[in-house]
Amino acid sequence: MPEPLQIAIVGGGAAGFFAAITCAEALGARGRVTIFEATTKPLAKVRISGGGRCNVTNARTDPRELVAHYPRGGRELLGPFHRFGPKETIAWFEARGVPLVTQPDLCLFPVSDDSASVIDCLLGAARAAGVELRTHCAVKQIAHAAGRFALTLGTGETFAADRVLLATGGAKGLDLAAALGHRIEPPVPSLFTFRIADPRCAQLAGIVIEEAVASVPGTRLQGAGPLLFTHEGLSGPAILRLSAWGARELATREYKFTVALNLVPPLTTAAVVERLNALRTTHGRKQLHTWSPLELPQRLWEQLVAASGARPGVAWAEAPAAVVQTLARLATASEFPVSGKAVNREEFVTCGGVNLREVDFRTMESRILPGLHFAGEVLDVDGLTGGFNFQAAWTTGWHAGSAMAR
Ligand SMILES: Cc1cc2nc3c(=O)[nH]c(=O)nc-3n(C[C@H](O)[C@H](O)[C@H](O)COP(=O)(O)OP(=O)(O)OC[C@H]3O[C@@H](n4cnc5c(N)ncnc54)[C@H](O)[C@@H]3O)c2cc1C
Repeated sequence: MPEPLQIAIVGGGAAGFFAAITCAEALGARGRVTIFEATTKPLAKVRISGGGRCNVTNARTDPRELVAHYPRGGRELLGPFHRFGPKETIAWFEARGVPLVTQPDLCLFPVSDDSASVIDCLLGAARAAGVELRTHCAVKQIAHAAGRFALTLGTGETFAADRVLLATGGAKGLDLAAALGHRIEPPVPSLFTFRIADPRCAQLAGIVIEEAVASVPGTRLQGAGPLLFTHEGLSGPAILRLSAWGARELATREYKFTVALNLVPPLTTAAVVERLNALRTTHGRKQLHTWSPLELPQRLWEQLVAASGARPGVAWAEAPAAVVQTLARLATASEFPVSGKAVNREEFVTCGGVNLREVDFRTMESRILPGLHFAGEVLDVDGLTGGFNFQAAWTTGWHAGSAMAR
């Protein structure tokens, strides 16, 4: 009987658990899988995810459509999604007693509406597959010699392994990967909101524009979707998407830049001028201040009219051309000075991590050190909000776990 393969999983998060279960189920008695988790609470992010409900995945099941939601890693994930994507994730959880339900925004949550059911499922599946879970047990160092790995644990022990998975999440564990010869893309935050010390935002706090486009003038960066004005600045999906696509560029600018808002997309400034001019004849008697023709919230419209320099009480028929032009520009290209970022408590991830060129995405194995694998956020992979980050963890975890069992 050959010695059983020793598999060490570093990190007890979504990616680590998924890889451990996949690997242990495939290995059976041929090997032993151990998860080392630094804290006393494995799967802590799963617990708090999606406001405690856990947005497990997304209903965009076509891999080509899916990868468009990853500012980093989309190209690399295309192949892996074909073999294990949202459809397989849904079936995986359903087969283990966690049915999921799709919301109108295409996000999938457990029917229980409680992340605890996802955690219980993962813990139960790991136990059933014979995975050993060691909590409060950080991996401090990993050495490699003669085809084997030696893990130095926080307890002072050494653990010998044939294969190692690094699944340490966002900014942690990167030193372990670097020490084993991997290039690291510097970690910076993604999915954040914008701080703007401009009274216009505070005045509009609480207002939601259902469809807006936020962009950074002079760049190709933009984010579309609902937009929320807050006392601190701007938030909502349009801003989170812009923060994700611009995570590196905006970090380079130390989060000081100008954001431009089109509040009436897809209309351009010229199209709005045309529309407003048409009103002068059809609704000439109506007052600028009291009637918003652009389907914008009244409070926002009044602010735009006040900023346009329009005389109080002026009727559309009498509005000077310069006022119409200014109103159109304010509706389609209002600029705000961003002075910093704020944490989006709903979901945030790290942009950066292990360089993707050094990883074989068919097996998630290092191209530098055979036997070393990666999964989850430790990689330079991150997605938009909507279940895409967990899907990347499930997919890379599944591929890594399957490969480590071979
Ligand atoms: C508030 C919040 C809400 C979120 N909601 C969602 C959501 O609804 N849907 C979604 O798709 N994504 C969501 N995300 C993102 C998602 O949680 C992460 O992308 C995902 O958890 C990444 O999984 P992971 O296993 O790679 O890393 P993690 O979940 O971060 O797990 C890594 C684990 O490794 C451990 N570790 C680190 N270093 C060591 C070491 N040296 N030794 C041993 N253990 C170590 C850590 O303690 C941690 O437990 C949310 C994130 C946050 C912060």
